[in-house]
Amino acid sequence: MKKSTFSNKKKPTLTYIIISVVILVIAIIAIVYFTSDSVGKNEPQQGSQVEQEQNKDTEDENTDSEQPEEQSEAPIDSDSKETDEEQVEEDPKEQDGNVNNEDKEPNESETSKVDNGYIVGQTLPTEPTYIDGVLIANKKYPLPKTFNPGENVEARSAFEEMAAAARQAGYELTAFSTFRSFEYQTTLYNRYVERDGKDNADRYSARPGYSEHQTGLAFDIGEVDRQDLWLTSEFGESEAGKWLVANAHLYGFILRYPQGKEDITGYMYESWHFRYLGIPLATKVKESGVTLEEYLGID
Ligand SMILES: [Zn+2]
Repeated sequence: MKKSTFSNKKKPTLTYIIISVVILVIAIIAIVYFTSDSVGKNEPQQGSQVEQEQNKDTEDENTDSEQPEEQSEAPIDSDSKETDEEQVEEDPKEQDGNVNNEDKEPNESETSKVDNGYIVGQTLPTEPTYIDGVLIANKKYPLPKTFNPGENVEARSAFEEMAAAARQAGYELTAFSTFRSFEYQTTLYNRYVERDGKDNADRYSARPGYSEHQTGLAFDIGEVDRQDLWLTSEFGESEAGKWLVANAHLYGFILRYPQGKEDITGYMYESWHFRYLGIPLATKVKESGVTLEEYLGID
């Protein structure tokens, strides 16, 4: 009994020790496992958290760095856009400027060809120009410097007839300027240029060689006692001026530079300037309602 008890006491002790060792080993393994697992799990979690936080930080830094860059870029972009827009806006302006310049250049080239209706560089001819038997003197068809016929006798006669008829109607007409020589036109034109400038003078006074007055067929007409209306458009609105426009063709005259035909005749409306063409032609031109240039078909 004692042996058995003793032996019985020894057996549980050994068993207890073995079990304890096994449990201890399992515990150690478990501790090591969990410890290593927790460390292994925590490390990547912490690492991932750290990395995520670092990524967030870097992202934040990136976004911060990007935002400031974007913000810094934004103003730059907006500035650059504004400058681009300004450049774009400036470009059309420049293009407009170029277009304007291009518009101006042809005009300048045109004005280089035509100066206030005159052909630049044109020299006076040696013979006068007749078109369909009609002596022409305008800004494109000048007269020779030596063309000096004096006042046309037939035209003077026709004017006196017309003046007599006007007197009957109650108007005392006079031709205050008819034939003008090349030399006198030179003096007159230079005086007008000095007074009003070349561009203005070219609208109402011919350059030497280009005046219809040099033909001896042009008559500047006005009322004797109304010198204030001489060389004015108001004369055309006066009763005498209206009578003249309505009846001049019956005596061989036409109003040479009508209103609104400056582009064609080269001269502004001159209510006082009449051209003798003879009764048949003057009547045809009058009835046609066009200028002499248009009637004859000349440029
Ligand atoms: Zn005249």
